Amino acid sequence: MVTHIRLPDPKDIDEMLQGASKRSEMAERKLKTAIGNALASMQVADKQKLLADLTLTDADVRILLLRTRLDGPALSRLKSIITKMQAMDTSGLTTYPGIVPDTRELSAEEKQHVTALAAKVAQTMRDIAKGLHDTYVKNVFGVGHDTAAKAVFKNAADALDRLTPSFWSSSGIVVDLMRKNEVWCCGALTNSTRMALGQSAVAAAANQDMNGLGFLTLVHESTHAIANGATTDVLYEHHEGFLTAGAQAKLKTADYYKEVVRQIATGIGRVFVEGDVDPHLDKTRSPELMQAATTADKVLNGAWVTAIRIQAAIHDMARNPGGYVGWETWLRNASRLMGITVHREAKLAFERNVFSANTGPKITSGDMAVIDNKIAMLGQCNGKAKHVLVEPTRRLNAEGFVDHVLEQVVRSYCTDTGLKFSKSIDKDVIVIRSLGVLHESVNASGRNMLIALGDASKPGLTELPEPMKSYDARARMI
Ligand SMILES: [Zn+2]
Repeated sequence: MVTHIRLPDPKDIDEMLQGASKRSEMAERKLKTAIGNALASMQVADKQKLLADLTLTDADVRILLLRTRLDGPALSRLKSIITKMQAMDTSGLTTYPGIVPDTRELSAEEKQHVTALAAKVAQTMRDIAKGLHDTYVKNVFGVGHDTAAKAVFKNAADALDRLTPSFWSSSGIVVDLMRKNEVWCCGALTNSTRMALGQSAVAAAANQDMNGLGFLTLVHESTHAIANGATTDVLYEHHEGFLTAGAQAKLKTADYYKEVVRQIATGIGRVFVEGDVDPHLDKTRSPELMQAATTADKVLNGAWVTAIRIQAAIHDMARNPGGYVGWETWLRNASRLMGITVHREAKLAFERNVFSANTGPKITSGDMAVIDNKIAMLGQCNGKAKHVLVEPTRRLNAEGFVDHVLEQVVRSYCTDTGLKFSKSIDKDVIVIRSLGVLHESVNASGRNMLIALGDASKPGLTELPEPMKSYDARARMI
């Protein structure tokens, strides 16, 4: 699968790069990395055509991307590369949409389809809760855990009812406009008040087949919409260890509920054996490597979800700065973690004003595109630890083993394909680990560290997580 690297509109670039500040210098470096990544993600023939049309050689581009600070002509050459790239791309996926509304309401026709499908999905989940499909519930969750699983199905049905559009209420189900589904490899984004479905999932709602994309997406997503005790995505069905996870992890994970419905629809039960060894694993791998792969997949998934959460918050900060007074430290730390430029801003403050518009730190389309690229790359790496076969060449402790696996994944799915995640592969692992540990499925406290304990409206992330904190301290000393 191809990584879609999106770049800001060339018209937004001057604003990002103006001035001689540390921030604009950094923004220029980030933009060059993004362009390098975008070129690396192109098909070879397309890239050759692009360069030929612009009468540039590979060497010209390399020099352009290496120059310390661009002068006017060099900058317009960079912009012409972006313009050309975006013109050649018929999918529209190379343009980052910018800081625009990220969802829209369902159309009348979509509303009709989604409402009808949601009613069927909710009914199926209630049937499961009532005990009509216990064989499959027990197959997936294990005997003794079926009651807990059925309670989740019941709550998910209620949550879905709450979000479903009706004649008298506006829909909690909306359509994602950022094409996150295609670029970030995620089906949808859901919390207890809103479900943002990708365009493809909304289109799929016209087909009400129980084994269809629309049906299964609504099952998965509605378990995320439960107000108390929502599932997260500890694992996905394509992850290492999906068939052998422990009961508690399964109960907290959306894809297992989807699996039950798929089994009802198809009558085919995959074999779930708790704590057993995954039969798909390559038998030649050491037990340490297999164990590290399971942990690494968890970390990668946690990092990907955390990055998506950070994107949502920063996107909203850019649009509604008045709601984020007190979030300055959060934003500074999030900017460091995502490798954007906001923490370089001399005055980083949100202000709520009475007589004029609310203000906040400048967040550019370039910053948002950098975050978007990182999420796309994490999306590619997510679930890939199980493919790592390379054993380390020296003895490692458990933590070192996980780092080893993460490094292999980043090499295979980013670096070796010409993509650059951060400054170096060592830093890539540090960033991924630090993003991962903020997720409730990875850290010891089992909570989302981006928000304050006991109050989701208040910021968490009061300091950088490890290992980024130590890395940052070392970098400051040098
Ligand atoms: Zn999910």
